[in-house]
Amino acid sequence: MSENGIELFRSSNGAKVFRIPLELFPSLTGFAHLVIAGDIIALIDVGSGVGDSNQQLEEGLLEIKKEFGDASGWSDLTHIIISHGHIDHFGGLPFVKSKTSAPVGVHELDRRVLTGYEERLVYVAHRLQEFLIEAGVSSAKQEALMSMYLLNKHLFKSVPIDFVISNSSSNIGPLSFIHVPGHCPGQIVIRVDDILLTSDHVLKSTSPHQSPEQLTMNTGLGHYLDSLEKLEPISTEINVALGGHEPAMNDLGQRILEIVELHEQRLAQVMTLLDEPRTVAQISKALFPGADGYHDLLAIEEAGAHVEYLAQRGYLAIDNLEDLEMGDPVPIRYRRRNNIPPLKLSRK
Ligand SMILES: [Zn+2]
Ligand SMILES: [Zn+2]
Repeated sequence: MSENGIELFRSSNGAKVFRIPLELFPSLTGFAHLVIAGDIIALIDVGSGVGDSNQQLEEGLLEIKKEFGDASGWSDLTHIIISHGHIDHFGGLPFVKSKTSAPVGVHELDRRVLTGYEERLVYVAHRLQEFLIEAGVSSAKQEALMSMYLLNKHLFKSVPIDFVISNSSSNIGPLSFIHVPGHCPGQIVIRVDDILLTSDHVLKSTSPHQSPEQLTMNTGLGHYLDSLEKLEPISTEINVALGGHEPAMNDLGQRILEIVELHEQRLAQVMTLLDEPRTVAQISKALFPGADGYHDLLAIEEAGAHVEYLAQRGYLAIDNLEDLEMGDPVPIRYRRRNNIPPLKLSRK
């Protein structure tokens, strides 16, 4: 590791992956990665653009040149790849685009987050408001959560991109992209020989955040679990997995198993809680009693994703159907259905 924390990983085929640590938000750290493989010099993710993130990214690239002697200047870059459409991964794009003309790519299902940012923000805020009402969140709290959600979001403006990643023909040299929707619709992980850049799909200690598909198509727990399963066959060929946050992982298969088990337990907890009719907000309180501020919003979304997973698969019934017949969104109370086979995740 270099003085300011840059780590170098070498793949079985001689590619280099540098990890550049960044302070993304006051309480969130993470990484941009620089992959050097033959002629390809690709920057994966660009930080949040908030606080010192841009400066740390620039200093990190300079440091790689100085400490390791690799071509890592802005003009050396051949590609910029955004692993998914969350601002802690793409917010630095306006800065990066002012420094380099390297083409920028993102998965097709997250393209509109970057190129139609303002429209998307209004649309998602609309869906979120509807979700919070249906989740049974009080109007005062809805307002607080909505303004928290929108805080800082107006700092970013749409940027054009240069290419989309859609299937295996999108691969760039030894960088192969695997689409793993769930945490985000266009979430990709990037394989470089025996190294896997897992972005926010698999993290070392945190279970990546889930939100209901009701908010955005191709998110949701069902897609996420399918996408974890997608990595199982290659997990034995991966020696190091590098997430977008948190330390490197040496046993990807084991980590995937832990995350699946956690969701399995959480789904079972939700089923037990729904012996009595409850709203998503009430379930969130029971599952994550200490959550407040932005974490409260994340907790309600996480609970919503689990309830939605069960409801989609016929485990739950709506207890107050007559309220829904009125038209406008209303708080929905769910309860577990009786006489259904026990909950079983498909992957076991
Ligand atoms: Zn993310
Ligand atoms: Zn992230």
